[in-house]
Amino acid sequence: MKEIIVSGMRPTGALHLGHYMGVIKNWLELQKNGECYFFVADWHAMTSCWKDLDVIKKARMDYVRGWLAAGVDPHKAFIYNQSWIPEILKFSQMLLCLTPPGWADRSPSWKDQTLNPKKDLDNLGFYTYPVLQAADISIVHGNFVPVGEDQVSHIEISREIIRKFNRFYNTNLPEPLEKLTKVPRLPGIDGNKMSSSIGNVILLNETEKSLQKKINKLKTDELRNGIENPGNPDNCLVFTYHKIFSAGKMVQEVNDACRGAKLGCGECKQMLGNSMQSELMPIAQKFNTISDKECMDVLVEGTNKVAKKIKNNWEEIITKVKFN
Ligand code: SF4
Repeated sequence: MKEIIVSGMRPTGALHLGHYMGVIKNWLELQKNGECYFFVADWHAMTSCWKDLDVIKKARMDYVRGWLAAGVDPHKAFIYNQSWIPEILKFSQMLLCLTPPGWADRSPSWKDQTLNPKKDLDNLGFYTYPVLQAADISIVHGNFVPVGEDQVSHIEISREIIRKFNRFYNTNLPEPLEKLTKVPRLPGIDGNKMSSSIGNVILLNETEKSLQKKINKLKTDELRNGIENPGNPDNCLVFTYHKIFSAGKMVQEVNDACRGAKLGCGECKQMLGNSMQSELMPIAQKFNTISDKECMDVLVEGTNKVAKKIKNNWEEIITKVKFN
């Protein structure tokens, strides 16, 4: 039996290489064998973007455009919009009623919010995020969620919520498991976490010129004093990017030449530009040819398909719990 895999992305800004490396590339592999549910998590986006819903609406289209450009295939995976399927929220409301607040307190995202309060995230929508996540997963009978190690405890909370639901109502929904993915950490061009709100991103649709301009801003080994002195690639952001985008042979060459004072940083950045261009330019070119209408058609068609399945699943749930 195929694994049922559920994964969503919050449309909160421009689609960038952090999303591509961390999520989308993984989806391309998962769609080959799994029954995949990839969704625009616009309710989740609202927890941080509730002041400007136009941001979400614009990003919704751009995210789908980026997914399609990168190769996510609507014939292999369901692509849909979370907020257009009301049964997800109905199920979430049921789950909210049986979830003790202490479980939401355990969410690493909420803990982080309480330690470093952010005005826009200080709301009950964000606090109860794990409950909606449990509904997202279980309403399609998802049994796997691709996550990095830092997200495992979110899936644990979802699992506990569904286990409690099953036990109490005598239902048999699959308890979701994490599907651990090895995600290369791609820092932003300033070395911090890549994020649109910080403005340190490389977009998925950069031109060759704008891409190289951003690569040229990456910090190199600060202690290296000119091409005539050896550098240390381990202290260099350009090398971090090389390890992600360049072939193994080139990575080794850069490492040796840098340490042997045989490669200048300008040339090294140009080599990185070539590596990144060969992977990213075909995506960027495709990105720019996909219209809003095309994105909307894919999203509407995918949502209609998933909504049918979800409606059936919801009917089964409320019949079983005798709440119809
Ligand atoms: S040569 Fe390359 S790896 Fe070495 S310090 Fe310069 S940019 Fe970094």
